[in-house]
Amino acid sequence: MVVVKGLPVSGGIVIGKVMLVDGDDVRVPRRGVEAGQVAQEEQRLDKAFADAMDEVGKLHEKAQKEMGKEAAEIFRSHQTMLKDPWLAGQIKKTIRAELVTAEYASYATLTALANQFRAMKNASFSSKVNDIDDLSHRLHRFLVGQQKARITQAGPNTIVVAKDLTPSQTAGFDRSKIIGFVTDLGGMTSHTAIIAKALEIPAVVGVQTLLQRVTDGAAIIVDGDTGSVTLHPTPEAIADAKRAIEQRKLYRISVGEVANLPSITLDGTKVSVVGNIELPDEVEKVLKAGGEGVGLYRTEYLYLTSDHEPTEEEHFAAYKRCVKLSAGRELVIRTFDLGADKLTQAMEETPERNPFLGNRSIRYCLKNPAMFKRQLRAILRASALGPIKIMLPLVSSVGEIRQTKFILNDVMEELSEDRVKFDASIKLGMMVEVPSVALLADTFAREVDFFSIGTNDLTQYTLAVDRINERVAHLYQPAHPAVIKLIRDVTRAARRRNTPISCCGEAAAEPEYAMLLLGLGLRTLSVSSSSIPSLKRFIRSVTIEQCERIARQALSLDSDAAITTLLRDRARKIVPEAFSGRSAE
Ligand code: PEP
Ligand code: MG
Repeated sequence: MVVVKGLPVSGGIVIGKVMLVDGDDVRVPRRGVEAGQVAQEEQRLDKAFADAMDEVGKLHEKAQKEMGKEAAEIFRSHQTMLKDPWLAGQIKKTIRAELVTAEYASYATLTALANQFRAMKNASFSSKVNDIDDLSHRLHRFLVGQQKARITQAGPNTIVVAKDLTPSQTAGFDRSKIIGFVTDLGGMTSHTAIIAKALEIPAVVGVQTLLQRVTDGAAIIVDGDTGSVTLHPTPEAIADAKRAIEQRKLYRISVGEVANLPSITLDGTKVSVVGNIELPDEVEKVLKAGGEGVGLYRTEYLYLTSDHEPTEEEHFAAYKRCVKLSAGRELVIRTFDLGADKLTQAMEETPERNPFLGNRSIRYCLKNPAMFKRQLRAILRASALGPIKIMLPLVSSVGEIRQTKFILNDVMEELSEDRVKFDASIKLGMMVEVPSVALLADTFAREVDFFSIGTNDLTQYTLAVDRINERVAHLYQPAHPAVIKLIRDVTRAARRRNTPISCCGEAAAEPEYAMLLLGLGLRTLSVSSSSIPSLKRFIRSVTIEQCERIARQALSLDSDAAITTLLRDRARKIVPEAFSGRSAE
């Protein structure tokens, strides 16, 4: 039995079997297969060769027409390599002799071949090395593509283990088969982690060393509450996990009982608990969990779960569904927050060097006005059917708000000309996720109708810590004094200016952090549906006076470690049940 630790990003304990999923990585890890799987691996290889042949054929034709003889010759030589029975034969030999996956066998065979040419140190062979590398990547891409398809054939109780997963891969999981996942990379508030929570899939990320130790089909236990991952568990470990699963069920039943009770603190203050969603149908989940509406609809998942940019009608259908399910309750639609980890950089001709500081979110929308207008038009059309608010992501300057208003007015004029109905007084709000905005909250309050603090990004940008990088995960601390001071200042500015304010970052779902947010003056919290019942139960167990005292104490401390300890100690005393199963560190 081997136990490794990672970051617990989505709660719950699951016992299942490993399915390994490779990313589009250039270095292919050595993966073993059972003797009975050899024929299947050979078939996968044949299919990859056929697909590669097809692709190279098309490239060859295109090159002949558009790029001239020399370029066409390159692809013709690739075709020759692919047709050579020796190459496929060598790779199959490796699969059989070493009992490894087709990906690894193809990578190892082609790398060895490229190295032979490299060793010849003759300039005329360097292009040969390039050709072989190119072929290796192409075959790998097709093999991984098939592996992605393999996910769709997962059997029951599958736990996906991968180096990393994209948010859209995770969103595509069949929940009836895939019961959990573990990745070597990733941080606490990565979008993959957020999707896991939305789908209620127990998940641990940032494990760093799991892939080196694991084989397909191995037994595994994943504890998404504590972050521990147990490989080849002993019968005792399995029995312990089963007991913990039962205890958790009982806790969830007790928490579920508060779902329909009002969310009021012990001293009678109303706190609105609303939900974060990624897909329209999740509105139902939010309401069932006791949420009062939707505080954040991350519309970019419309894009990320599709193979094309959504049309206006596709946007409209999604928003109409949300409005219908929300039945008059709060519904905040955030415009596309694409970019960074929410738009595969592979789609870019030249990937950005610092995507989190690059062309993402509102910047991306303003650079793609046709796409932005399509979305705004659909939101406005849906606003005729029920209450909707528009929220802009990752605003960093007032100019972005003004430009958006300009575009929004344009869209409104077009709709009026077309005699299409919409809510002309629709509220326009913004996320507070960048320190520049938090520092100038008074100024921004003059520009928008409401604020929502996004602690996921605010923490990342205040502390200069990449939220999805497991290597700096220990530095990613929403309880850092600098983050807390910014939240206090924004909340004060909002109060002065009468600007409604909420918090929709993941931290709001943690009882200890929620306590701090209430103490700092927040009265609306938006969290994933799975976190709503426990958050409501917590709110019903505290007084605002307690929260304000704790917030004052937290603001007097100078380190995230001291603040985290203070918050945990206090919250643990108030609702000990919320912490059962969570380690005390
Ligand atoms: C945030 O940054 O806190 C937030 C809610 O937005 P997202 O997680 O989608 O970046
Ligand atoms: Mg954000």
